[in-house]
Amino acid sequence: IPVEQFDLVIFGGTGDLARRKILPGLFRRFRAGQMPEGSRVIAAARSEMDDADYRKQMMAAIKEFGGSETKDTESLEAFVQSLHYVAVDARGDGGWSELAQLMRDGVIRAFYFSVGPGLFGDLAERLHQHAIADRDSRIVVEKPFGRDLQSAKALNATLAQHFREDQIYRIDHYLGKETVQNLMAVRFGNALFEPLWNSHYVDHIQITVAETVGVGGRGGYYDKSGAMRDMVQNHLMQLLCLIAMEAPNQFEADAVRDEKLKVIRALQPVDFHHIVRGQYEPGSGGPSYREDVENPRSHTESFVALKAHIANMRWAGVPFYLRTGKRMKGRVSEIAVVFKDIGHSIFEGDEARHRNILAIRLQPNEGMDLQVTIKEPGPGGMRLVDVPLDMTFADALGDEQEVPDAYERLIMDVIRGNQTLFMRGDEVEAAWAWTDPIIEAWEARNDVPKHYDQGTAGPEDAMMLMHRDGRRWREIK
Ligand code: NAD
Repeated sequence: IPVEQFDLVIFGGTGDLARRKILPGLFRRFRAGQMPEGSRVIAAARSEMDDADYRKQMMAAIKEFGGSETKDTESLEAFVQSLHYVAVDARGDGGWSELAQLMRDGVIRAFYFSVGPGLFGDLAERLHQHAIADRDSRIVVEKPFGRDLQSAKALNATLAQHFREDQIYRIDHYLGKETVQNLMAVRFGNALFEPLWNSHYVDHIQITVAETVGVGGRGGYYDKSGAMRDMVQNHLMQLLCLIAMEAPNQFEADAVRDEKLKVIRALQPVDFHHIVRGQYEPGSGGPSYREDVENPRSHTESFVALKAHIANMRWAGVPFYLRTGKRMKGRVSEIAVVFKDIGHSIFEGDEARHRNILAIRLQPNEGMDLQVTIKEPGPGGMRLVDVPLDMTFADALGDEQEVPDAYERLIMDVIRGNQTLFMRGDEVEAAWAWTDPIIEAWEARNDVPKHYDQGTAGPEDAMMLMHRDGRRWREIK
């Protein structure tokens, strides 16, 4: 879908996120012919530099993080000509009139707040004060959106002073992934799945987001946050919503977000016996979590597993098992819908439990895998085996169908004015309202996380969470 000419102002345009994701993503859209002639990217950050310096820096960043397409140096040269730089102080007056002068009429204006949330209010205020933002301008805000319900409400209120909800794009890059959108296509575009998508046929649902990396350079931030705030409240919650929601009457931003909100509001408070916190230990090698964050007494969790229930007709009694962690055995993000047993097998000697499982993989190899039961080939009689009907989107659609990265897709949606894949303020608040009591209880009793060795599937207690129910986590490969 084509986009109109735009000016995208990136506050924090020299930061890590801009260099690793935003600029490389924009370059790929430029190459795909999606950046209309005359569109500009204006970086606004603290350092003093001119357009030429900024172009040089970003050229290097895009080459480093932009993948094979950056070999096309001609395009890269052309792209960086659309980059501009203004030194702006979010908290002071410096640079704002220069930025105001750069603005043009008749062009879409989007402002990406790629800075810490402590600056959102300052930016919103000054955009307004200097008449830089107009009535149609969009703002894009990054995670973390608050650290609890109270701070999220305060952030929403701050932004609402100067922007309407339909101007605010809260990014959760998980929602920009091809597979996540495919989840909706699979559910609502096929006759095959939706009739089975309920407590009559589904035994349980598992959502796993496992990372092999540790906290990296973000130790200071992460240690104040932990897996519940950093992953569960936003990313896993969004995946849960998409898998569990009712069909919206149309694929339109508020229709979709209304349905997601209903899911979050229907979540029951989690029973403390149904939640496991973990923190990684060296295991076969590498520093412990506490060494990584340089806090020998840290009780912050790098892993969470929990069992949730959605109190509505569709999902009555169906457990949703969620887990996420760092320094785990493999890098996997997937949602698995595990269907119930067939109940009675007509095949003699068939003792195995055969279950259909629909696994939707976000990474690696975005795709879908449907486990089906067939006859084991050969003359040995009617023996059954479970085999995968495995589809990797890149293979199924061919190499020429290059799958855009989450960030580039989301940025283009901002320019198009499509909020479907962005979180609404009330959704974010509802998600905090569900996670807050869990975190508060941990903090009140100074809960100590269970230890797990690096390179494993998490603490033993997380296995037990499933075993007690006669179920198993899917293997992390
Ligand atoms: P960073 O520290 O690398 O960059 C911060 C940027 O903000 C710099 O360009 C800096 O010049 C600018 N800045 C800071 N104070 C300023 C001020 N007073 N006035 C004007 N500019 C100022 O941060 P980052 O890693 O790029 O993260 C940016 C935002 O994105 C944060 O909210 C972060 O939580 C979020 N985020 C980052 C990542 C990531 O992978 N880096 C992932 C998800 C979310």
